[in-house]
Amino acid sequence: MIIVMKPGALKKDTRTVIRKIKEMGYTPHTIYGKTRNVIGAIGDERGKFVLQSLESLPGVDRVVPILKPYKLASREVKPEPTEVKLAPGVSVGGKKLLVIAGPCSVESEQQMIRTAKAVKAAGAQVLRGGAFKPRTSPYAFQGLEEKGLKILRKAGDIAGMPVVTEVMNPMDVELVARYSDILQVGARNVQNFSLLKRIGKSKLPILLKRGMMTTITEFLMSAEYCLSEGSRRLILCERGIRTFEDATRNTLDLSAVPVLKERTHLPIIVDPSHGTGHFRYVPSMSCASVAAGADGLMIEVHPSPENALSDGPQSLTFENFAALMETLRPFIAAAGRTI
Ligand code: PEP
Ligand code: MN
Repeated sequence: MIIVMKPGALKKDTRTVIRKIKEMGYTPHTIYGKTRNVIGAIGDERGKFVLQSLESLPGVDRVVPILKPYKLASREVKPEPTEVKLAPGVSVGGKKLLVIAGPCSVESEQQMIRTAKAVKAAGAQVLRGGAFKPRTSPYAFQGLEEKGLKILRKAGDIAGMPVVTEVMNPMDVELVARYSDILQVGARNVQNFSLLKRIGKSKLPILLKRGMMTTITEFLMSAEYCLSEGSRRLILCERGIRTFEDATRNTLDLSAVPVLKERTHLPIIVDPSHGTGHFRYVPSMSCASVAAGADGLMIEVHPSPENALSDGPQSLTFENFAALMETLRPFIAAAGRTI
């Protein structure tokens, strides 16, 4: 249920509502809006109508059920879009398009520092690089783990960029959070519920990638796991789904962008690198993502893609990345955004 407070409700009225919600055995989640606050009461769906009695409390405008299975992620709870702050001066979900760039995997200090400087100069705001890699084969490069986290942090600090990296295991959340500004949950872990619950307790922003076989509703239910644990800074990422088509690595589902925009207040970015699997298709799908209303892009960039330890075929060179940033400009302006 959502308890919608009146525009001029007093702080003590909100506090009373929160206390009552707890007494009734539900968990309150307050969402501070521009004109009024709403309090989501989350818990057992079956007895939720007892919450209707809160309507008689001072400062309460109305009590309404949340119809969607995802609650805190839904537009019903928060009609206006959420702008997620990632670092001083860097956010996503507002007017400015977010660009995250970097290699698939952290391989060496030199590779990361060169990449950080190149992508920053071309206009990227966040540096990426995997230190724990979810690989299909156990014999493929698995990532440099803590050594990779240290390199990523150093490269980000040198270039003056916040960093994002994947965490695969609930036991590693604390370790990864020591080095990274944003925690990424990869496609393969989108329904790893113990990871989602653990990561939802972290204070860091979360970048949640859509699974290759998750529906949009399932994707939002995964986001709900993090939000219900207290996370407030969550970004969704469309990265392609499995279909019968094999000309591309995945089928980039760009229709997910307007659908998600309608259903959730959370920011949504697109990863056309994993979405297509080939560097030649990345620029057109990046422009299409911006046109579709995405709040940002995540692009794989490598100093020498032919030597990359993972995902070389879909990685852009520094030159190709700089060219892409130029190509994007008119699309960014046409979408009413800035960079
Ligand atoms: C990645 O971002 O490098 C990655 C492994 O992506 P995904 O989880 O979308 O496959
Ligand atoms: Mn990759």
